[in-house]
Amino acid sequence: MRIVLDVESCTGHGRCYALAPAVFAPDDMGHCEVVTPEPTSEQEELARAAVATCPEDALGIEE
Ligand code: SF4
Repeated sequence: MRIVLDVESCTGHGRCYALAPAVFAPDDMGHCEVVTPEPTSEQEELARAAVATCPEDALGIEE
């Protein structure tokens, strides 16, 4: 799997990096940066949950 981020849609709620800090991190403005775009199998469950919880639909998954 590969995480994709639509930076124009991200408004910085922070749910993604709160839920999966090994995969997502905040930039200086609190917006999302994908630090691990291809999560390991151990990181995958939390990464998928973080994508699903984004209120702006800014995150997606390419399989
Ligand atoms: S949860 Fe969505 S809107 Fe919030 S920081 Fe993450 S990607 Fe951006």
